[in-house]
Amino acid sequence: MALKTNMSRRAFTKMSMLAGAAASLGISMSGSLVEADTAEAATTTETKKVRTSCHGCIQMCPAIAYIENGVVVRLEGDPEAPVSRGSLCIKGLNQLHTMYSPRRVLHPLKRAGERGENKWEVISWDEAIELAATKIKEAIDEYGNYSFFSSVGGGGSYSFMEAMTLPMAMGSPTVFEPGCAQCYLPRWSMSKLFYGGDDQSIADNAVQEIFRPEEDNKAEVVVIWAAQPSVSETAESGRGMAEIRSMGVKTIVVDPNFSPDAAKADVWLPVRPATDTGVILSWFRYIFENKLYNEQFTKYWTNMPFLIDPDTKLPVIASELFPDYVSPTPDNTPAYVCYDLKTNSVQPFAYSKPEDSTVDPEIFWTGTYNGKTYKTAGQIYKEEAEPWTLEHCEEVCWVPADKNEQAIRLYTHADDGNRAPCKGGDGVAGICNGVAADMTESASQVPIGLMGLDSIMGYINKPGVSMTQKGGGYFTSTPTGEKVIERPVTYNNGFGGMFSDMYGVGAVIGMSEAENKERIEKLGAAMPDSQRILNKLLQDRLGMKDHKGLYAWCHSHIPTVRQAIATGEPYKPRVWFDMSGNKLAMLGNAKSWYEVFPEVDFIIGQYPMLTSFHVEAADLVFPLREWLEEPMVNMTQLNTQWLQNECTHIGETVSHSIPAGQVVNRVREMYGGHIPNGLELGGGMATAYLGSATEQEVKESTAETLMAPSWDALQADIDKYVPCVTPKDQYFQYYQHEMTATDGLPAGFGTESRKVETYTQIVLKMARNGYPFCYPNPQEACDDYSPICTFIEPCESPYSDAQQQIGDRDEYPFILTSGRVPYFHHGTMRHAPFSRELYPAPDVRINTRDAEKLGIKHMDWVKVTSRRGEIHGRAYLTEGVAPGVVWMERFWNPECFDDSVPEAKRTAGWRECNVNVLTKNTAPFNEVYGSYTNRGFTVKIEKSTKPDIIWIEPKEFEPFMPTLHNEPRTEDVF
Ligand code: SF4
Repeated sequence: MALKTNMSRRAFTKMSMLAGAAASLGISMSGSLVEADTAEAATTTETKKVRTSCHGCIQMCPAIAYIENGVVVRLEGDPEAPVSRGSLCIKGLNQLHTMYSPRRVLHPLKRAGERGENKWEVISWDEAIELAATKIKEAIDEYGNYSFFSSVGGGGSYSFMEAMTLPMAMGSPTVFEPGCAQCYLPRWSMSKLFYGGDDQSIADNAVQEIFRPEEDNKAEVVVIWAAQPSVSETAESGRGMAEIRSMGVKTIVVDPNFSPDAAKADVWLPVRPATDTGVILSWFRYIFENKLYNEQFTKYWTNMPFLIDPDTKLPVIASELFPDYVSPTPDNTPAYVCYDLKTNSVQPFAYSKPEDSTVDPEIFWTGTYNGKTYKTAGQIYKEEAEPWTLEHCEEVCWVPADKNEQAIRLYTHADDGNRAPCKGGDGVAGICNGVAADMTESASQVPIGLMGLDSIMGYINKPGVSMTQKGGGYFTSTPTGEKVIERPVTYNNGFGGMFSDMYGVGAVIGMSEAENKERIEKLGAAMPDSQRILNKLLQDRLGMKDHKGLYAWCHSHIPTVRQAIATGEPYKPRVWFDMSGNKLAMLGNAKSWYEVFPEVDFIIGQYPMLTSFHVEAADLVFPLREWLEEPMVNMTQLNTQWLQNECTHIGETVSHSIPAGQVVNRVREMYGGHIPNGLELGGGMATAYLGSATEQEVKESTAETLMAPSWDALQADIDKYVPCVTPKDQYFQYYQHEMTATDGLPAGFGTESRKVETYTQIVLKMARNGYPFCYPNPQEACDDYSPICTFIEPCESPYSDAQQQIGDRDEYPFILTSGRVPYFHHGTMRHAPFSRELYPAPDVRINTRDAEKLGIKHMDWVKVTSRRGEIHGRAYLTEGVAPGVVWMERFWNPECFDDSVPEAKRTAGWRECNVNVLTKNTAPFNEVYGSYTNRGFTVKIEKSTKPDIIWIEPKEFEPFMPTLHNEPRTEDVF
């Protein structure tokens, strides 16, 4: 591998500025930049407009960059974007401050002092790749493949897929991401298991249908539960929500914090942190009791009428009770059992169109058959919800009963006579959720409950709802081009079943046992070694036995990884390749991670910036491109895909997938072509690492996704290929489940029963043997997971038995929850001076009456202490949180480690104000996904003083101002 920089290192580092760049930046960002030389400022240049997309957050709003002499001088939103429509938020605009930050890492860095000293030596890419590969190979040789591990997450890089596949290529099962079980995986994965469709997330790009502008969009009520789109994805779903509110769509917000979306809502329910499942169950109870559910949909399109075997807890298959019964449907569509209201008896319930059904299934039934007492799934849900009267919910969850009732009636159209869906009208509602739901022990119960509510209301696959199966996935093409509908199925193991297809591991939900067996045998025959290795990696992944839902993204359980590093049991991860973000800001109980860094022999980081994690831990740092430098394809806005373009390129930075690709290749070379026990692909592809190893590969795959013949062709005529539009009639489909499939039956859903599994039976099988992920080789059983929404009292709370037993309930009287602010995304942008100036220290939102009792005034500094540690913030007095609740920004960190801070005051900057010093990464965990407690734990609050290193005054942020002392645009490094 040769470097392709167009100058020597000496010349490279000596170059200090671009004259034209100085002029351009000085003019367009007046007052925000280091002064340009006046002689240089007089130079005029031509301005180029380049179409791209923001990647400040996951929504990737289409944008336009203005470039002068290779320097991006201005950003604005692309007015043609169908949801963001020309807007960019402050996080997007922060890019000019981060890309041109004086803290930008522009060359590979090798640690020159002790960890924590922030001393670095600039080395070449050749040296950096060689060093990383050598350390990995040495560890594998001495300790085995499982000594390698990777991680990702925290924003600022996009290596999610590669982080999964890099350890597999090295023959290791260990990868983790704070944004997995703690953020999005539970919602995403559970929707696949629940109905095979898209999740309800509003801040992760899933819910798009509600923003569709056409008149047949029937959204009338949107429930925003545990999310704040106006803050999280301001320019996209935040702007979209503002627009649909202005069009008359009503909103309900469930959030402990009076967010901007709560302020605009028709009803705000200030739930006690981490008790959302209690509110969900109160909605179920009210809807059941007042018969507000969509009876027809619940009877025929959900599994609520199925009889549940009390011993197995699984729905009873018809042949189990009726041995002579011959199902009229294929093996991949079993017949179940219901209580039939036509005959007043227990009967087989075959899958069919509702109008063709031979039975009228009762939803709520308890009774005896052949001496055994059965309940329907609906009855089980009803009994679980029974204690949750509005009054009980108010007592436990602090949601006023009258407001709660108002919200439920609005959501169900209960007072909207002719429009109520259960009475034949066409108005719909839909629930959207967000990350707060993932950050507690109830991470699987919340999405099961929220999808459960939409399912019994029939708010699925209709114009204007949240739960849809968009994207044309229902249709397959015959050789003649005819579009047909097959029985829908759902793939598992990796996004979209990637690993199932590549290695033949994992069952496909919706296929019969025989179909799955045949598929697995065929794929296994093509690559038996890879199938065997992937099977073993699944079985050996840390934390899998208890939290099998993590298989969906092939990730390890974070606290179990930390424990393995600390103890060496069952094996010791020793060489760490972190692919993005500040792990000390992102990981729960950050101090517990800091304490195990000495146990890790070698730590590789990659990121556009140094962070306090890199200062404290990394031995080697690979410099990455920022989003204005990185070509890729963004996610969708409605039915469009957009280009993220290479607008400039500074220093020796590379695209996010390249360092790992180069390292994999070098380790393979060192082993003579094959890493022992490393996963390989078939078809002549030697390595399982799926990222690109050169910029040309990155660019060509980007062009291919946008259906351009090449990167050069794409650049020559961007408007021809961008946006890449899926025709509306293919992308937006409704009532798909009712369409007739090739087997003559209604298509249904991609579940075992072909119905919406409101009683999510598949999680029971998952707990018992790892199905559908660990197939054909089962995983050891753990305790059953709950197939319905259940209430779990947070383990640290005013009402928890555990806390009462500890006896220190009074010492930690406040419940802490956290959330985003509009200035930063995850751990990123802490170096952006304007955002930092606007939000120089973390607010601790505290109720005015609580503050008064503690003698705390608005903007006083306070110390927040949990059982894990203490941090500081500024008191923000408000009635926007309930008495007893405090709220903080979730990843605030000052990154105060370098010469811009006087040495006497200098720290790495992760301890002082980082809410993750307080969070809890020990059991109890969410049963399915292993999520730990980022929100809803107890703290105490005291008056304090400002930590020395925290900047408050605008002038203090001058060292962070974007600099012209950058390096010129370069050619690709690889
Ligand atoms: S919402 Fe996200 S993608 Fe859109 S402009 Fe803001 S940071 Fe960028």
